[in-house]
Amino acid sequence: MSEQVDCVVVGAGVVGLAVARALALQGREVMVLEAAEAIGTGTSSRNSEVIHAGIYYPQGSLKARFCVEGRQRLYAYCEERGVAHQRCGKLIVATDEAQRGQLQAIARKAEANGVNDLRWLDGPEARALEPALQCVAALHSPSTGIIDSHGLMLALRGDLENAGGMVVCHAEVQEAAATSGGVWLRTADGTQLQARSLVNAAGLNAPLLAARLQGFPQQLVPRAFYAKGNYFTLSGRAPFSRLIYPVPEAAGLGVHLTLDMGGQAKFGPDVQWVESASDLQVDPARADAFYAEIRRYWPALADGALVPGYAGIRPKISGPGEAAADFTIQGPQVHGVAGVVQLLGIESPGLTSCLAIGAHVAKLLA
Ligand SMILES: Cc1cc2nc3c(=O)[nH]c(=O)nc-3n(C[C@H](O)[C@H](O)[C@H](O)COP(=O)(O)OP(=O)(O)OC[C@H]3O[C@@H](n4cnc5c(N)ncnc54)[C@H](O)[C@@H]3O)c2cc1C
Repeated sequence: MSEQVDCVVVGAGVVGLAVARALALQGREVMVLEAAEAIGTGTSSRNSEVIHAGIYYPQGSLKARFCVEGRQRLYAYCEERGVAHQRCGKLIVATDEAQRGQLQAIARKAEANGVNDLRWLDGPEARALEPALQCVAALHSPSTGIIDSHGLMLALRGDLENAGGMVVCHAEVQEAAATSGGVWLRTADGTQLQARSLVNAAGLNAPLLAARLQGFPQQLVPRAFYAKGNYFTLSGRAPFSRLIYPVPEAAGLGVHLTLDMGGQAKFGPDVQWVESASDLQVDPARADAFYAEIRRYWPALADGALVPGYAGIRPKISGPGEAAADFTIQGPQVHGVAGVVQLLGIESPGLTSCLAIGAHVAKLLA
């Protein structure tokens, strides 16, 4: 006998929790099924914790739209719910004349995305803000910030539970099938559920889960690729009070400096394509490339100052050498399976976008 539930959200990362909260606030009965022992142990706790402004993404993309909307929603939510955050701003830096054109292209892209608070700085103006910096020009983004992502997830979970929803941990969804009455699910301990709506927010596992859903058109399931991002932390005090980003590289935003809420500086993430979603060790040998990249904008970085930190894996649905895919959000209008929403390729800026994605999915299922 299957238990009946209105909505099941698979995955208690920041996106699954934001979606579940939005559905619960609409008055829906919501159960979040999470494979791990706690919420937010996946990519949501292995990222830069940056509230992005929405600068880099192609005009008209979901990434651009949800980042700008999500950032505004997120700052308001943090204020309202007392989630620790800081609107510290960031500098994107051109370290040689050849990068000046790239910086100008970034400024145009930002403008097209509705990010109109960027300020162009020449080298001396940038150094007046950050004296340790080496650059020929910079873009200052005052609306970029940092956030305590775990505090955010606890607040989202609190809202969900206050609205009558629940999170069940140790509940890995192993089997699923679209039926005439909704979606049938079976978890690892044998529990069976029948849900009217199913949201797949399983992060790195989302393509696998989509492929497992019997009755779902398999041609719509993208291949999963994993791009690991390694971080090194800085021993000692950070010489910067804003985030420092080089101009972006192929699959990531370049080895940048971010600060956490405690003021600790970290550098990363780099890009390392890996075969497994659980390959999370940081290889200390990668530090050599970090020193070289960081010294382009911070020449005074001392030998031995970088300590292996942690790694996160980008849930990619485009492979090495391909253009980065947009967020792929498939609702019933796309695939024809009633009640099902698939969230695929929710890489950066997924944390910034979570509240906008939540609102969007709730609308798709309204
Ligand atoms: C290196 C790196 C840096 C980043 N930096 C930023 C940043 O600074 N700013 C920003 O906005 N974004 C950033 N991102 C992106 C952001 O971290 C992600 O978009 C976001 O965390 C994705 O959240 P999620 O809930 O979709 O996935 P996850 O946090 O991975 O959650 C998915 C959950 O699903 C569970 N699950 C999987 N399969 C099953 C199953 N079968 N049954 C039940 N549960 C299951 C997992 O255990 C996991 O808890 C970064 C990402 C990376 C990798």
